[in-house]
Amino acid sequence: MQTWTTAAYLIAALLFVVSLAGLSRHETSRSGVVFGIAGMTIALVATAIVAFGSASGLGIALLLVALVIGAAIGLWRARVVEMTGMPELIALMHSFVGLAAVLVGWNGYLEVEGGAAEGGAGGAEQLTGSLLGIHHAEVAIGVFIGAVTFTGSIIAYLKLSAKIKSAPLMLPGKNVLNLGALVVFAAFTVWFVISPQLWILAVLTVLALLLGIHLVASIGGGDMPVVVSMLNSYSGWAAAASGFLLGNDLLIITGALVGSSGAYLSYIMCKAMNRSFISVIAGGFGATATSAAAVEGEHREVNAVGVAELLGNASSVVITPGYGMAVAQAQYPVAELTRKLREAGVEVRFGVHPVAGRLPGHMNVLLAEAQVPYDIVLEMDEINDDLAETDVVLVIGANDTVNPAASEDPGSPIAGMPVLKVWEAKDVIVFKRSMATGYAGVQNPLFFRENTQMLFGDAKARVEDILAELGAHVRTG
Ligand code: NDP
Repeated sequence: MQTWTTAAYLIAALLFVVSLAGLSRHETSRSGVVFGIAGMTIALVATAIVAFGSASGLGIALLLVALVIGAAIGLWRARVVEMTGMPELIALMHSFVGLAAVLVGWNGYLEVEGGAAEGGAGGAEQLTGSLLGIHHAEVAIGVFIGAVTFTGSIIAYLKLSAKIKSAPLMLPGKNVLNLGALVVFAAFTVWFVISPQLWILAVLTVLALLLGIHLVASIGGGDMPVVVSMLNSYSGWAAAASGFLLGNDLLIITGALVGSSGAYLSYIMCKAMNRSFISVIAGGFGATATSAAAVEGEHREVNAVGVAELLGNASSVVITPGYGMAVAQAQYPVAELTRKLREAGVEVRFGVHPVAGRLPGHMNVLLAEAQVPYDIVLEMDEINDDLAETDVVLVIGANDTVNPAASEDPGSPIAGMPVLKVWEAKDVIVFKRSMATGYAGVQNPLFFRENTQMLFGDAKARVEDILAELGAHVRTG
């Protein structure tokens, strides 16, 4: 049985590695998902068989009930979740991983301590000497990472679903608080290893729960993409810590894969947003309260006919989509508009900001779904230098990612974040419903520029209006 389980775990681990490799490219992402599902199925079945083999009748019944309830909730949520709700769902799932790690840690402690109290008879493991010390260190570290992930992910969920404000919480001495918590954690872990008392583990747990809340609450809206990938990474390490406690190699490997890929993604996103990786993972360490310069001026409005006319006279058009395109599900009429303009000989390209929307790759997925050709969808860095030579930029539901304040106002909360320089184009049309701010809560001076016109309303309806008018202004096929 042991050999079969090890073989199954090894195959599952390899499938997870292949899955990650597949997911890193558009063309292979579907097969990446299939490999991931296959790996998870093998892992789940092997684990269930092992558990069935050693559990009592009641244990098996409980396991089956848990599997059925978990699978039903998972299927239901995956079916009903909107694409724009994915980051919230992911944050919530990370919180479950964190909670599971806390429970595994506490269980590991109680089982071993219970066994020791009964003269070594009842414990799951007969640990002595340095092995016992290592076990207690694993418990403390696993519970700590799990608890930080648990509450941090809940705060991320609340921020992403707009149930609480996304602005950063600026407690006085917040950096000292975070550092102090880490020092206390290290000291209490040592103490717990030497003298494994229940109250020390309880203090460690409460400390980590509070630190998780504070770390994520301190990070502002614009940096939330990094927080999501950072929590993804933490959840991986929490799972790996549980793997050590449970003696489960697959959990260790999977946790390490999630932990390291999440850390790397956080690093890439920090680079894309010109943020310090260390600063963000330390809860906005070093960030100080900022105040953006007041934005004043008059904005100009345009209607669908005006935009169709402008497009009719354009030879190059760049579309920069954002979260609003996802909300409006405007990608289909946008793809149709692209097709018609290209048929009429207009050069149309897309400029995608690395954090546009609400999850990494959000816009690329939507555009691929609407069958926009990959080769005209360019990254921010690939298109930014061409924007000054572009006739018309259509900003469809994007806001923070096209905000000139990021490069022009050092006091802005998004200062330093690279943005799409759409304002350099000859004409800019901004599709949105009102003058409201974007996710970071920062007003956008772009709306008041001389070459900008606002097209108010739901992005999908407005693009459809333009499509209806287009025939009169361009030669459509
Ligand atoms: P923003 O979130 O800054 O702005 C979106 C705009 O879309 C809003 O100003 C809104 O204005 C408009 N909008 C909403 N619904 C509609 C609709 N139906 N029709 C037309 N417009 C609509 O978008 P960006 O994509 O530019 O920026 C993403 C932001 O999200 C960044 O701050 C990023 O850091 C953050 N973020 C990104 C994550 C990621 O991984 N990509 C994860 C978490 C956060 P109005 O209400 O007036 O219509």
